[in-house]
Amino acid sequence: MKSHMTAAVLYGKEDVKIERVPIPALDAGEVLVKVNVALTCGTDLKVYQRGYHARMIVPPALFGHELSGVIEEVGPGVRDFRKGMRVVALNSAPCSSCFYCLKHQENLCEDLLFNNGAYAEYIKIPRRIVESNMLALPDDVSFESAAMTEPLACALRGLQETGADLGDTVTVIGAGPLGLMLIQVAKLAGCNVIAVVKRDEQTKAAKRFGADEVVHIGKNKEPVAAVVHLTEGRGSDSVIEAVGRPQAWQWAVEMVRRGGVVNFFGGCANGTKVELDTNRLHYSEITLKATFHHTPQTVRRAFTLIAEKKIKSTDYVTGEAPLSKLKQVLQQMLDRGSQIKTAIIPGH
Ligand SMILES: [Zn+2]
Ligand SMILES: [Zn+2]
Repeated sequence: MKSHMTAAVLYGKEDVKIERVPIPALDAGEVLVKVNVALTCGTDLKVYQRGYHARMIVPPALFGHELSGVIEEVGPGVRDFRKGMRVVALNSAPCSSCFYCLKHQENLCEDLLFNNGAYAEYIKIPRRIVESNMLALPDDVSFESAAMTEPLACALRGLQETGADLGDTVTVIGAGPLGLMLIQVAKLAGCNVIAVVKRDEQTKAAKRFGADEVVHIGKNKEPVAAVVHLTEGRGSDSVIEAVGRPQAWQWAVEMVRRGGVVNFFGGCANGTKVELDTNRLHYSEITLKATFHHTPQTVRRAFTLIAEKKIKSTDYVTGEAPLSKLKQVLQQMLDRGSQIKTAIIPGH
């Protein structure tokens, strides 16, 4: 086998180079996957912009985390997978034995193991992910759809934790890839969906993904009043903030109805503080929640939705590019291009 591969190496702030690096060697229980597709994601964009990720990436490092591919090699002791199988491997796996894992809050695992490096010809999948968060693809599921398992698992968990029920009105603030997924899964779950968006093309996208109403904050300077108006003056049963900005966190609290639930789904920059009206929280019995990441259970639910073709990559993947163009693709995303997700194809 070859000894080197082409990979994107992150050196720091907006500094990515395409280089030849050694193909990782396998230990017991590990698997080497030849990457067919790696999807761009808002998290990768943040990593590119900031040059690091507090919990996952210290440069110089390989990055990218939404991938699917074909098993190239299995390490000693791997039983459930063999060379040639088409798989999706998730970007993390919990330890299954700590305090949080035993409470089924695996996303909060004290030793959550992350794996990055999807923007490369090959990626090594650590034993723990092989054992708990790698899934074999049915023949009729495309690599691109399968690679969406990770973000979809986050979106499903976000909706589930919000507790939204059939017929409820769910307002989603933000129409990035995850905002659009939240809109789509809320609609699939039988909710009425209001989308709060910022850019013109997002209005169309939000409607296409199932939003019943769209509030455009450029055209409507009072998004809170607009959402309250759309809900007979009550406010939304639940609001999911999928932007990660303090102003949107505040809007979320102001546009939820009495007794409603707010889910702070979007993570703000380190050190961000938000002011909240305590009277409103107390006398209106507002529940504030936040959800982060995914669990093995939501990963499997997401995979099932993809296998059933209820969620398709063709709705999300708006472009394709070879690995050599990764930097241009990320730069375009920063410059606010209209792409939802780009499929990076390392084999080109
Ligand atoms: Zn992602
Ligand atoms: Zn754990």
